[in-house]
Parts: sequence; C-alpha cells; structure tokens
Amino acid sequence: MIRAVKIDVLTLFPGMFAGPLDESIIKRAQERGLLELRIHDLRRWTHDRHKTVDDRPFGGGPGMLMKPEPIFEAAAALRRERTKVILLSPAGRKFSQAAARELARPDNDLLLVTGHYEGFDERVREALADDELSIGDYVLTNGALPAMVVIDALTRLLPGVLGDDESARDESFSEGLLEYPQYTRPAEFQGMKVPAVLVSGDHARIEKWRREQAALRTSKNRPDLLK
Ligand code: SAM
Repeated sequence: MIRAVKIDVLTLFPGMFAGPLDESIIKRAQERGLLELRIHDLRRWTHDRHKTVDDRPFGGGPGMLMKPEPIFEAAAALRRERTKVILLSPAGRKFSQAAARELARPDNDLLLVTGHYEGFDERVREALADDELSIGDYVLTNGALPAMVVIDALTRLLPGVLGDDESARDESFSEGLLEYPQYTRPAEFQGMKVPAVLVSGDHARIEKWRREQAALRTSKNRPDLLK
C-alpha cells in the first residue's frame, strides 16, 4: 500500500483552492488515497478582533508585510514529524520538473506557506522555511496559484497517479529536452499531412525522428536547456 503525500497549505484565500484541485487527476489522486490535501486559513491563528496578519515594514517602504506570529503558530500546530516547510515566493529558487520530482515522494509531508502583500517578515524565511520556491520570473498577487502549480506538478509524478494513457515518460523536461511534435487522427486535416515517418510503421526511424525533432524544438524555444 502506497502512503499518501500529505500537503498542508497556509493561505489567506482558501476559497481560491476550490475548483482547480477538485478536478481531473488531482481529484482522482485524493480519492485514491495517494494525496491528502488540507487548506488552512491563516487568520485562524490570529488573536485580535481584526484577525490581523500584516503590518508595516520597519525602515519604511511601500506596502505591508505578513507578520511572523500567525505563521509560526500555524506551522507549530500543523507540522508533522517529517514536514518540510516550503515558502512560495518570487525570490525563491526556480520551481522546475526536477524540483517537482524531488517533492513527489510518498514519504514527503509538505507545508506550503503562501504570501500576500509585499511578502514575508524575513524571520519566516530564516527560522521556519526549509525551502523557498518561485514558479517563475513574475510577481503574482498572492501565493495561492503558485501553491496550486506546485501541488499539480508534483501530484502527477506520484507513483500510481497517472494511468498508462497519461504517462509522464517522454514529456517535456523528462529527458532534458522539450517534447517532440505529436499527431493524432485524421492523417490529413485542412491540407496538413502527418509526417510520413509516423505512419511508416518503422519504429527505429520514428524514434530517431522524435529525438531530432525534440532537439530542434528545444534549440529553437529553450536553448538554455541544451547548455
Ligand atoms: N515583494 C515580493 C517580492 O518582490 O519578492 C512580492 C510579493 S507578492 C506580491 C505576494 C506573494 O505572492 C508572495 O509572498 C508569494 O507568496 C506569492 N508570489 C507571487 N509571485 C510568485 C512567484 N512567481 N512564485 C511564487 N510565489 C509568488
């Protein structure tokens, strides 16, 4: 029996998670006991009338910062024995397929801490986070979408989640290259024909063509991957 990956998410916007994580493969992974997801409203760990989670930065500057106290208190309450605390932040290391693979292990328990406003008081980073992930070089309004991206990417790599028809083998990044071009029926559509090699039945030639096409596409769209 495969153990479920347990993921807790701390957010100011629990409502954003309904929908994307209740569909398709992620829904199935939860139903099959391969993923246990719990979404928590950070304001549950505040103690004032206004449920305050932010405050002004020392030294001045624009915007508000997430206060450390509710986040530390929530983490203490939610931590399991082997929980890894991961901050979602544009200043983190770049999330990638390789990082998703590192996280997609049934013995991993994760606490994803998502920010809002100008981000976190630095002590959250220093004393709580085991890792800090950015989903790309752009700034979103809050960490709910980045958390969902991380959850989606790692869940589909968990053993037993994808069926044979949805294999993660041969995908973009799986071999360091982008995926090769693929076609399905009809063999001719609006005058565009499927490359003859793919209907030749010659598996060695098909493999060779796919490797060449993957390398071509990678050098055109993502030359950085070839370095
Ligand atoms: N002031 C921060 C900075 O310059 O790095 C940006 C804060 S952003 C407006 C608010 C929150 O959204 C962040 O704390 C983080 O949780 C989330 N966020 C925004 N963009 C992100 C990204 N590219 N990757 C991961 N999280 C992101």
